[in-house]
Amino acid sequence: MIIIIGTGLAGYSTAKEFRKHDKESPLMLITSDDGANYSKPMLSNALTKDKSPESLAMQSAEKMAETLNATIKTETQVTAINPAQHSVTAGGETYEYSKLVLATGANPITPPLEGDATDDIYTVNSLHHYRSFHPVVGDTETIAIIGPGLIGCEFANDLANIGKTVHVVGPDKTPLSLLLPETAGQALQADLEKQGITFHLGVLPKAVNKKGNGYELTLDNGDTIEADTVLSAVGLRPNTELAEMADLHVERGVIANRLLQTSDPDIYTLGDSAQVEGRVLPYIMPIMHAARALGQTLAGTDTEVKYPAMPVVIKTPAHPIVISAPAPGAEGEWDIEQREDGVKALFKNGDDLLGFALTGSAVSEKQALSKELPPVMG
Ligand SMILES: Cc1cc2nc3c(=O)[nH]c(=O)nc-3n(C[C@H](O)[C@H](O)[C@H](O)COP(=O)(O)OP(=O)(O)OC[C@H]3O[C@@H](n4cnc5c(N)ncnc54)[C@H](O)[C@@H]3O)c2cc1C
Repeated sequence: MIIIIGTGLAGYSTAKEFRKHDKESPLMLITSDDGANYSKPMLSNALTKDKSPESLAMQSAEKMAETLNATIKTETQVTAINPAQHSVTAGGETYEYSKLVLATGANPITPPLEGDATDDIYTVNSLHHYRSFHPVVGDTETIAIIGPGLIGCEFANDLANIGKTVHVVGPDKTPLSLLLPETAGQALQADLEKQGITFHLGVLPKAVNKKGNGYELTLDNGDTIEADTVLSAVGLRPNTELAEMADLHVERGVIANRLLQTSDPDIYTLGDSAQVEGRVLPYIMPIMHAARALGQTLAGTDTEVKYPAMPVVIKTPAHPIVISAPAPGAEGEWDIEQREDGVKALFKNGDDLLGFALTGSAVSEKQALSKELPPVMG
């Protein structure tokens, strides 16, 4: 039997791709959540679209089990993998596998904060989290978001769109500083500020305490922010716990080769949990490509994953952005053209385009420029 741990995009896409090549072999998916099939990217623009948690769940686990001709164990935590026995332990039961797939995603990083209200801070990295967050948004006038990165900026834009007063806090000089050159970050910040969002940059939050019916966030420069709700979006860490316990090789993520095979030849990984040939790529497109290859491998035809250039669209409609980050350590320089309503930043080595960050009206050049990019993993 093939067992897949996780029913996020990585788990379900792998199951779908496998079923394209093998309609009958036993397949089991095990998930600690309710197994609802949903689109995670929609979590950070759902408020603008007035989407309830229920409406984001596209199919129930029962429906997915039927479609995939699979057994799906929901609300069931896998607590151990025993590679020697080819078995996993989950909910007090032992299940044997021929091949195992780790699609366990990533966990939100908890910022180190003092204060009496750290347990009240929200994070939204799953439909389950959104089910908790969504009801409090209605009673929230002011929200403080910790983390001016991709997820923090998307939520800031979404919350501002529905009339909330939004503060964004973080040590970065400009928003999205890990992905965007400074000029582009400034352009994003300016347009988000026009939406009424206040940035507190170059500062670290130190403490969150209860104050009245809400909270007070204390920053390391002594400033304070009062808010009804605090949301943390400081990043994700690949969920490698099970792999580590099973003595698989792990660095930032669970290490895999191009077959998506871990250090145990019968255990595979993909998605936010995986580090494939050194790269952790926690986005939709890499998962789709990886699932396609892995589906074939699991069905008996070893297939290496190939990643083309995969630009990521940031959902900040106040200032549209599309990014294709250069490979880590790539040699080259940013060539930056600032326009009235955005930035066209090209990362080049001589004449070779290795990455880009397009903002504002420059996003219209995405298609043409993408064709010039080298594959991420050819
Ligand atoms: C708010 C938000 C917006 C995003 N927007 C975009 C976007 O616009 N474009 C883009 O490309 N990417 C975006 N991303 C990233 C993208 O959504 C993720 O890369 C992708 O959804 C990860 O899927 P996954 O299946 O690897 O992990 P997850 O969806 O996290 O799935 C992990 C699964 O593993 C299960 N699990 C974990 N541990 C265990 C265990 N021990 N036992 C049993 N089950 C277990 C969980 O229950 C879950 O089912 C966004 C992410 C977020 C949070």
